[in-house]
Amino acid sequence: MRNIILVSMVMITLFIFIFVSVDKESILIGDDHEIIERPPLNQVIGTSLRLNNNDLEKLKFAISNVKNTRFDKPSEWGESVTGVIQRISTEEKIVSLTFDACGGEWGSGYDEALINYLVAENVPATLFINSRWIDENLETFLYLASLDQFQIENHGTEHRPLSITGKTAWGIKGTSSVDEVIGEIVTNFEKIKELTGHSSRYFRSGTAFYDNIAVEIVEQLGMNVVNYDILGDAGATFSATQVRDALLTAKPGSIALLHMNQPTKGTFEGVKMAIPLLREQGFTFVTLDEGFNLSIR
Ligand SMILES: [Zn+2]
Repeated sequence: MRNIILVSMVMITLFIFIFVSVDKESILIGDDHEIIERPPLNQVIGTSLRLNNNDLEKLKFAISNVKNTRFDKPSEWGESVTGVIQRISTEEKIVSLTFDACGGEWGSGYDEALINYLVAENVPATLFINSRWIDENLETFLYLASLDQFQIENHGTEHRPLSITGKTAWGIKGTSSVDEVIGEIVTNFEKIKELTGHSSRYFRSGTAFYDNIAVEIVEQLGMNVVNYDILGDAGATFSATQVRDALLTAKPGSIALLHMNQPTKGTFEGVKMAIPLLREQGFTFVTLDEGFNLSIR
């Protein structure tokens, strides 16, 4: 009799284990292709994304699907069009700091003091890095990618607004076709992948402007567009106190947009003032992945 009870308990445990397991997807991520389990991202952040495992073969397949899709004309243009993630859905007191490195003639600097501070204070952050910045700062890029506290993500190839019709934002002409949208995303994806082994999961365009079809294309390629709910340094034009005050508006799940490529501006001093104050208020800092994982309930 005791044996029957024991066998039944083992069977029930096994059944529960299998039932729980099939509810998740095994996905390939990270530098070493470690297999982790988590629910599909569309459950986490409520987009149309089906998968988020961007191996190059899968990406190639997704690209050919996009090229064979007949898209409608875009109906939205801006920084918060349909599909753009602006914050992490959570009640936890977490903030995700994101730092863009834009590249180009005026955008290839490196705010070493800022990064050293984040390292010394062990503040996790997500770094959205453009192809041109990587080319200008290769050693630094590899150093940043080697640190666990930083998540490297995709800030485009030529730093263009993401449009299928060539719309302009802040005086920068956007991509003007589906092919150019794909190129803006994929060329930098491949560069980051080749240098670090990491598959980008999040995309932010130069200027953070998109039309809704371009956002749909990002999702079809297996990534999500992540913008912000806190304009942290307004393109590195804010003074230190403006940066501090912007960051102090943080709410649970806020995503702050800042820059790590303008060492002569107020960004670092503002961040340095805000971080201890936010910690006093009970906030902790997370990478985007950590944040989206915490949003699972
Ligand atoms: Zn930028």
